[in-house]
Amino acid sequence: MRAAGRISQRALRLAGAAVEPGVSTAELDNIVRKYIEEQGATPSFLGYGGFPASACISVNNVVIHGIPSENTILKQGDIVSIDVGAYYEGFHGDNAWTFPCGDISDEAKALLEATKNSLFEGIKAAKSGNTIGDIGNAVQRYVELRSYSVVRDFTGHGVGAKLHEAPNVPNYGTPGRGPKLMPGMVIAIEPMINIGTYKVKVLRDRWTTVTADGKLSAHFEHTVAVTPEGPVILTDAD
Ligand code: MG
Repeated sequence: MRAAGRISQRALRLAGAAVEPGVSTAELDNIVRKYIEEQGATPSFLGYGGFPASACISVNNVVIHGIPSENTILKQGDIVSIDVGAYYEGFHGDNAWTFPCGDISDEAKALLEATKNSLFEGIKAAKSGNTIGDIGNAVQRYVELRSYSVVRDFTGHGVGAKLHEAPNVPNYGTPGRGPKLMPGMVIAIEPMINIGTYKVKVLRDRWTTVTADGKLSAHFEHTVAVTPEGPVILTDAD
């Protein structure tokens, strides 16, 4: 799983490094696909439930599941969430990051910072003996104290031989509630955090998920193993 995670992470970083004004989201998707295939791996998302691309690329008010397109050209000030999974030797890795396109507003910067920090708060809570509710609560507490909102309609998930496995890992919750975390479990923790309302809607393409109020959203994700020594990030190429 570490190998699959490493490929996922490197593909994500390559795409992130290519984010700049004038680039289309289809170009970023091509970078992801090419890198993953060169490693002898398969893009987890390509064809998953009929998804037509290797990465989900979600710009500004798009929360998740944005479909890469030649017609979506990035511009200065955009925030660009890229979600990438790779399947390698029987296992998946899954990770996401929101990248700034050129100079972004202070409001956008603060959202990215808070969402990234909330991911690491969630990861810290992914300890053996804790519960799924402890993770969700850690994420929720961090972002709601800063007046952001937590998307409810989509969650993190177990990950392994299948991309999405039990349990669901909501980004909200009550300490001590939900399934207990045990060594050997691997989960994708992925806060999706909005500046305005937590409500989202899915567009008619049945994928693109946008904020109900049109305000910005950010998304950061790591695949994390629960071990006797604590949480270990598997989508960390360093
Ligand atoms: Mg995921």
